[in-house]
Amino acid sequence: MVTSSFDYFAPTTLDEATSLLSRYRGEAKVLAGGHSLIPMMKLRLAEPGILVDIGQIDGLSYIREDGDGVSIGSMTTYREMATSSVIQSRYPLLADASSKVADLQVRNRGTIGGSLAHSDPAGDIPAVVLAIGGSVVARTRRSSREIAIDRFQVDLLTTALHDNEIITEIKLPSLAAGTGTAYSKFHNPASHYAITGVAAVVTISGGVCTEARVAVTGAGDKATRARRTERILRGKELTPAVIRRAAERAAAEVEDTLNEDIHATAEYRVHMTQVHAVKAIEAAVAAAG
Ligand SMILES: Cc1cc2nc3c(=O)[nH]c(=O)nc-3n(C[C@H](O)[C@H](O)[C@H](O)COP(=O)(O)OP(=O)(O)OC[C@H]3O[C@@H](n4cnc5c(N)ncnc54)[C@H](O)[C@@H]3O)c2cc1C
Repeated sequence: MVTSSFDYFAPTTLDEATSLLSRYRGEAKVLAGGHSLIPMMKLRLAEPGILVDIGQIDGLSYIREDGDGVSIGSMTTYREMATSSVIQSRYPLLADASSKVADLQVRNRGTIGGSLAHSDPAGDIPAVVLAIGGSVVARTRRSSREIAIDRFQVDLLTTALHDNEIITEIKLPSLAAGTGTAYSKFHNPASHYAITGVAAVVTISGGVCTEARVAVTGAGDKATRARRTERILRGKELTPAVIRRAAERAAAEVEDTLNEDIHATAEYRVHMTQVHAVKAIEAAVAAAG
């Protein structure tokens, strides 16, 4: 389990890092927490010739309330999100999901930017951010752009990010009054990766669901909005019967790319997605009050 050889750079500014990515475009990879990239390199599933470690760059790790929403620096770790009072109070599902990633060692190193850029089909954070909404800020040497989270996860381990871009920030919107959130996962007992996980953000007004965003991870090739579930929830009083009917459609969007491996069959994943959709939506409704 030894990586192929590579050159290692540890720039101290974003300009330096983005210049390196441009100079070695196609050959270079960003290194953040290293908890997905290094295992991939050891298995020779990734063989970058150049590593650009962004861990020495100041100012990429923060949680900041600005304007209406919250901005999170891309190098912010799971542990920082799990223990942040801002995240706990404004996006409890993100704090909760962060606290359930792997073990303390991984949570101390793994970053929100790395998790989104890696787009692991069993990753927790992509589904959670998808349910919250918002955008990813990516920078090259010359420019910066904002990618809506709904367009960010493209395919298995594939995002809308270009290979000369670095994620610098994740922008989360303010949640409306009457919104409750929850994340529920059925995890692999060894790694804690989601065999299936469901993130739910629902807004209740006058006893009726006025907005719902539900996202599923683990079941298919990438974190995906459960749009049919959302449509069933919107405009209704969320009785147990409505929640159960909506949850039955939670895996519908990923039925063409269902995962089947040593951990679970496709059929079992669909079933557990429904079970955890009920749990997540019920908990979100309870939190909405
Ligand atoms: C034992 C173990 C258990 C785990 N269990 C879980 C789990 O339960 N749930 C879960 O969700 N994850 C789990 N993970 C994965 C972990 O969450 C990783 O930390 C995460 O997937 C990647 O984040 P990172 O900061 O470590 O990124 P890296 O490993 O450094 O990078 C991952 C990829 O993203 C790219 N990248 C990183 N940062 C940026 C950036 N700012 N801009 C552009 N590209 C970037 C890299 O080039 C690379 O392609 C586990 C990992 C291990 C080793």
